[in-house]
This record gives sequence, C-alpha cells and structure tokens, in this order.
Amino acid sequence: MTAVSMAAVQVPDLRDFTLSELTEWIGGFGEPPYRARQIFRWLWKRQIHSISEMTDLPRAFREALVARARLSPLSVVGVQSSRDGTGKLLLRLSDGEEIEAVLIPEARRLTACISSQAGCAMGCRFCLTATMGLHRNLRPAEIAGQVLALASTLAPGEHITHIVLMGMGEPLANYAATEKALQILTAKTGLGFSPRRITVSTVGLVPGIRRLARSDLGVNLAVSLTATTDEVRNDLIPINDRYPLSELLRACREFPLPPRRRMTFEYVLMAGVNDHVEDAHRLVKLLKGIRCKVNLIPLNEAPEIPFHRSSRQRTEAFQKILERAGTIGTIRESRGQDISAACGMLATADRSLDTARSVPYTPECGVEQFGSSLGS
Ligand code: SAH
Repeated sequence: MTAVSMAAVQVPDLRDFTLSELTEWIGGFGEPPYRARQIFRWLWKRQIHSISEMTDLPRAFREALVARARLSPLSVVGVQSSRDGTGKLLLRLSDGEEIEAVLIPEARRLTACISSQAGCAMGCRFCLTATMGLHRNLRPAEIAGQVLALASTLAPGEHITHIVLMGMGEPLANYAATEKALQILTAKTGLGFSPRRITVSTVGLVPGIRRLARSDLGVNLAVSLTATTDEVRNDLIPINDRYPLSELLRACREFPLPPRRRMTFEYVLMAGVNDHVEDAHRLVKLLKGIRCKVNLIPLNEAPEIPFHRSSRQRTEAFQKILERAGTIGTIRESRGQDISAACGMLATADRSLDTARSVPYTPECGVEQFGSSLGS
C-alpha cells in the first residue's frame, strides 16, 4: 500500500461524526464550535461531494481538512422501480461491499427503508438477507448516507418523510453505529428528522432494546415477533434461544413509550407454521399490557425460503381475532415485490437474477426513470 492510500484509509470520514464529535474533533485544530455546525450543514443539508466545496471555511482550514479527513459517498450502482412506485437502490460502499436501500411512497408518506449491515448474522429461516451471512457492519456515514442517496433520486418537491431501519441487517447488532446514525439524522443542524418519524426494527436483541430504552433518542421501536411459542420461534429465529419470548416481552413492556405512541410488532405469516387460530389468541395474551399494534406481513416467498405465505382467508381470520380482542392488527400490503424490494427480500451477494434486473445508474436513465415513477 502506498503512503497516499494508507493516509486515505486512516483519515476519518467526516460523515461518521455526530455533531458533538465533529465539534470535539475540530476543537483539536483550535477551531470554534460554530465551524462544526458549518461543516455539518455542508455535509447533511447541502449534501456536497467534496471538502473543497465548503466555500465559507477559511482556506487554510479547508486545506487542513482536505489533508486530514475524507468523504466517501455511497455510489449508486443500480436503480430499480417497481410497478407500485417503490424504488430500490443498489449502493456500493468504499470497500466494494454492496447494500440496498428502498423508497416506499404511500398516501402522504415517502418512507426510506435503510440497511444497518451488509448482510446479516441472525439466520432467520424465512428471510433472504440471512442467506448472505454477515459481510460487515455499516459505519454511521453509510447508514445515514443512504438517506442522502435516496433523496438524490427524488424529483423536485418530493421529500422523504419517514425512515425505517428495516433494510438489510440487524440494527441492534450494530448498536454504536446505529445510534450515531440516528443522532446524525435527527440533528437540527442537518436533516433534522423528528425521531417520531424514525423506526428501528429488531429481531429481538434484548440488550440492544434495553440500551435503546436508556438512550434519549426517542425513536420508535418495532419488534419482529413472528411466533407465539418459544418452540416455533426457536426454529424460525435462532436468536430466540438466547432471548426467549418471556425475556423479550419483558424488555418491550419496560420500553419507555411517549404518550399516544405505540410499539410495533411485526408478524410474518407462514402457512401452517404460525398462522393458527391458537397463535392469534396466544399473541393477544402475550401482548397484553403493551401499547402496541401488530403488522401482519404475508410472507414474501423465494426459492431459498422453505415456507409459504398464509392464504388471504387465513390472514384475515388472524386479523379478526386480534381485532375482536382489542389489539390493533393491520395487514401490511407488500410493496416492491416485482423488484425484490419487499420485506425480507433484500440480498445482494451472488443473486445474479437481481444484478441482471438492476438498471445501471446514469443520470439519463437512472434518476429520471426513478424520479418519474415515484411522482406518478
Ligand atoms: N433485523 C431487523 C431488521 C430487518 S426488518 C428485524 O428483524 O426486524 C425486515 C422485516 O422483514 C422483519 O420484520 C422481518 O421479520 C421481515 N421479513 C423477513 N423475511 C421476510 C419474508 N420473506 N417475507 C416477509 N417479511 C419478511
């Protein structure tokens, strides 16, 4: 490795810093805190691509920054648009790893679904991302940067309104970077997202849930429950062995919820596995006393997944039982299925089908096509 590329590897990516970290870091150069806010605005509001674009910094400081820091924006290598308006980006990281991020337009919402890891180590048997295994954790810049990448594809006047960490990976298994990314996304000086519009989804890592509860982030929590007995959950979600239902639900009960807010439980419905009438009744009992809603997700099928989705009839019957017991249960309409952008369908490694379907990014075809389909 040459001296130059060594330096390039070692200097920090400015987008990895939270505002307070950046303030401290530039303080080391004798720069005052307001300079950190200036830089932060360039990074997250004006979304520049190089440090030399920060034109309101004194030249000497800018040059010092160029030498001591870097920006590594995610490169868009594929854009796909679904018939239903959902858009998926294939993003390449500086070391060549690839991740996916999804934009989901709904009535008055435009939700960014972002990844927290390249791949995933949790091994859930009904999820396609699991087949990749864990490649690596994402850095804060790579998690929060997905929102910038998605926003760059929007037509003028369109804005991302909600963020969900429901892409590839388990956010609470990459806790520190996830927490920093959330601090960055909610910083008023930057993108300024309200934490009530951000949801972290977890497979049920109890220590992570407790840590999130202790943090002052105030984001929403979604828990992928998907089974009502430890026996079935152990089989579907291996981590249940470590954090069984009773412990998981205790951590959920103790999670501080602001007034009028609800926790979400995701429940992926699989025919003959977890969609019995008894499951619905057990689910109601398990969730007693938790202010929550249940998202019933019909399984998205794939050849690699050894399960089938529940019939419409079974799904609606399940929902009725919840409803009658006073538990809010909505059936989540699957989005972006034709481009493998739906829940549990994100996987990049060696899925030749995916690569073949993705559109190479060029300003002419990528963004235009993406933008117009979202606007329609
Ligand atoms: N690891 C976190 C974040 C990923 S969110 C978590 O598990 O919550 C992805 C969501 O899609 C989870 O709720 C997961 O249960 C769901 N999912 C996974 N595979 C699916 C599939 N094949 N069909 C439908 N939903 C699936």
